[in-house]
Amino acid sequence: MTKPDPRDLLGIRDLLNEEEREIADTVRTFVRKEVADHAGQWFEDATFPKHLVGQLGEMGLLGMHLTGYGCAGTSATAYGLACLELEAGDSGLRSFVSVQGSLAMFPIWKYGSDEQKDRWLPSMARGEAIGCFGLTEPDRGSDPGDMRTFAKRDGGDWILNGSKMWITNGTLADVAVVWARTDEGVRGFVVPTDTPGFTAREIKHKLSLRMSATAELSFDDLRLPGDAVLPGVTGLKGPLSCLSEARFGILFGALGAARTCYESALDYASTREQFGRPIGGFQLTQQKLVGMAMELNKGMLLAVHLGRRKDAGDLPPELVSFGKLNNVRTAIDIARTARTILAANGISLEYPVLRHANNLESVLTYEGTEEIHTLVLGQLLTGQSAYR
Ligand code: FAD
Repeated sequence: MTKPDPRDLLGIRDLLNEEEREIADTVRTFVRKEVADHAGQWFEDATFPKHLVGQLGEMGLLGMHLTGYGCAGTSATAYGLACLELEAGDSGLRSFVSVQGSLAMFPIWKYGSDEQKDRWLPSMARGEAIGCFGLTEPDRGSDPGDMRTFAKRDGGDWILNGSKMWITNGTLADVAVVWARTDEGVRGFVVPTDTPGFTAREIKHKLSLRMSATAELSFDDLRLPGDAVLPGVTGLKGPLSCLSEARFGILFGALGAARTCYESALDYASTREQFGRPIGGFQLTQQKLVGMAMELNKGMLLAVHLGRRKDAGDLPPELVSFGKLNNVRTAIDIARTARTILAANGISLEYPVLRHANNLESVLTYEGTEEIHTLVLGQLLTGQSAYR
């Protein structure tokens, strides 16, 4: 009988196939080498490590579960594991990869014309072109169906007016996938960010996801050719399907942040001494560590289960809500508990725990808030919608 490993109590690694383990190990090594020691500084400076984007592309992490156009075409579970390892470094890094792959490349790949795919996907997969996804508006977050950004036809062209808020990668992007109301319903537009009338302003003073570039986008009589629209989808199901893809990455990713916090607390508890003994010897510290380990492992089982269902083509959006709701909540609880074990040191950027806890505040809110995912599940259980 094998003695359980405190860092993988249930032996989740044994549930993964060789390719999945290899991908997770490669990304973990990359994060340890290139990210772990710098993440605190990037957070403090509010700087996104743009120099890593080429490497993310070389490793096949950009649009990695898409096929063709230079994308790696891995399983969804492998994509989730890569998100987990990236987020073990910082949620900002995983956010970059989620937005690039699931929110900007995915809609072009799924709903775009051949020309749009050929123009953008290969360079986005290499990390030479960066994408962002504009759905949220200053006054419309949880209810995107009430968006005000509008595109109207002008001869063969489109004219876009409005603004989008809280847009990850907004100031870095070469291309924005912008969702706008039209006379035919909500449509997606592929907007090169050098188009006259496009402005991206960085959102400053964030206390969370500081490493991530977040922007407000404005469109002022922005003229687009007729073929800038995504031809394959009309209506809110377009952006919602992208969000479902990104949420899947998050339900794995958040556990990476949680794992770093748990391991940090475990290490700290074995070396920090008070009252003449390691704090890990106190019952209350052990209770915290055991609770963290149990929740982390249960979250991992859930993530792998949902990954297998996605790979089998049978993952309804409500179960993605289940995973995102549970695992982000789990992760934030673990991060905050880890902070209490590190006590005063826990509030410092010298240690990762409060940085992760703060980042997870954004993760709890974006891609559907905790409340909205609860109500999505509530509707599934009762047949009644409580949110509209
Ligand atoms: P609101 O919708 O105003 O909600 C306020 C509160 O009311 C919340 O607690 C909410 O749960 C609750 N609430 C709202 N409606 C109901 C209801 N019917 N029943 C019960 N409670 C309700 N958006 C993008 O489009 N692209 C991005 O790249 C992107 N990146 C982001 C990055 C960061 C760092 C952050 C913080 C946000 C990002 N977002 C992005 C926006 C994000 O998706 C929204 O913030 C989110 O959808 C919530 O919208 P809101 O902040 O306007 O809150």
